[in-house]
Amino acid sequence: MDVLICGAGAAGLSLAQLLGSQGHRVTLVESAPTVRNGGLAIDVRAGALEVAARMGILETLQRARIQMILGTAFVDAGDRVLGTMTPELVAGEFYEEGENDIEVSRRVLNEALLAAIDLPTVELRYETTVTAVAEDTDGVDVTLSDGTVRRVDLVVGADGLHSTVRRLTFGPEAQFVHHLGIYVALFEVPTTLAPELGGRMYNAPGRMCSVLNYGDRAVAMALFRSPFLDHDYRDIARQREIVREAYREETGWRIPAVVAALDVPEFYFDAVSQVKLPTWSRGRVVLIGDAAHCSALLSGMGTSLAMLGAATLADELAVDGDLASAFSRYQQRMSPVVTRAQASVDANAEIMVPASQQAIDRRHRLARAVDA
Ligand SMILES: Cc1cc2nc3c(=O)[nH]c(=O)nc-3n(C[C@H](O)[C@H](O)[C@H](O)COP(=O)(O)OP(=O)(O)OC[C@H]3O[C@@H](n4cnc5c(N)ncnc54)[C@H](O)[C@@H]3O)c2cc1C
Repeated sequence: MDVLICGAGAAGLSLAQLLGSQGHRVTLVESAPTVRNGGLAIDVRAGALEVAARMGILETLQRARIQMILGTAFVDAGDRVLGTMTPELVAGEFYEEGENDIEVSRRVLNEALLAAIDLPTVELRYETTVTAVAEDTDGVDVTLSDGTVRRVDLVVGADGLHSTVRRLTFGPEAQFVHHLGIYVALFEVPTTLAPELGGRMYNAPGRMCSVLNYGDRAVAMALFRSPFLDHDYRDIARQREIVREAYREETGWRIPAVVAALDVPEFYFDAVSQVKLPTWSRGRVVLIGDAAHCSALLSGMGTSLAMLGAATLADELAVDGDLASAFSRYQQRMSPVVTRAQASVDANAEIMVPASQQAIDRRHRLARAVDA
């Protein structure tokens, strides 16, 4: 088959590797000039570990394993440690300790996946996106941003939360993207703001600020509760302003210094959201990863679901040439784990960004009980 995959995140890179290994001719287009390595480290857990093993990258991930989010210290305004983030505190059956739970930097995962897709059947094109998708009975004509048209058998939208393929095929994202009442900002900060190796998290009601020192770099993560803000998710200057505004009254801990440092190029901001669609495919177009079923970063399952979804789709496509039944089996197999991951988010939001001082105190009592 000729396959066009849009988006070179964990989902798109994994699917390109798996379909390329099966001998399919794959074109993978990515709008950014390189794969995107920013943000926090990511978690590879649950069934995604088997997918990593199949792709031959498990040992690389195990060697580069770090422990950052789990182990983060909760601190008060005076930087006194009040407890630690442990697997017992974060909800869901997905968190495990030890070998069965790998946290790695996004760069390590991307580089491992890129090395694994170095196959003659896979073409990777950066700074390219999809502008139109036109399907007829035998195939799909995909117009790319350079004006060329590719005739393919299958189009895969692996282009994340704000998927263009989903918009072109299923309609505007407002129908499918559900804001969870929380916003996230991630940005690199000087290590002087995170002198201690590991994570440190301070909370005021409805406002979380944390710094994570990875040894070679430090990242700040800010989560705050807010109703939906109508903003353009590409307008970075406005996003920085929103974050400054959200933390203007907060003077505790290192918040003023962290917020003063947010004027850096590597700045990620978005509404914490989930994607829910009744079906993940239409005709010869199918969605994987966040484009299909974003579970939100609070689930800790986004990357694992992306890899697992890619492998499930690749397996079902290998059964026979019937796309419709392959897509239906793919969705049937993935739905239960997606539903569980999406359901875990409310409880994790209470741990990461408690809404009230009572909820913050409750978290610290819980953490002390687990630590004891
Ligand atoms: C810069 C960045 C930082 C992130 N940081 C975190 C984090 O710290 N913690 C966390 O839990 N999750 C984070 N996420 C989300 C996380 O990567 C996903 O939840 C998860 O890995 C699922 O992967 P995915 O491949 O489905 O989507 P994504 O990782 O979002 O990958 C989608 C890819 O598609 C590309 N793309 C988007 N639109 C187009 C288009 N129109 N044409 C071509 N390519 C397109 C994007 O550039 C991206 O490379 C981040 C995502 C990004 C893009």
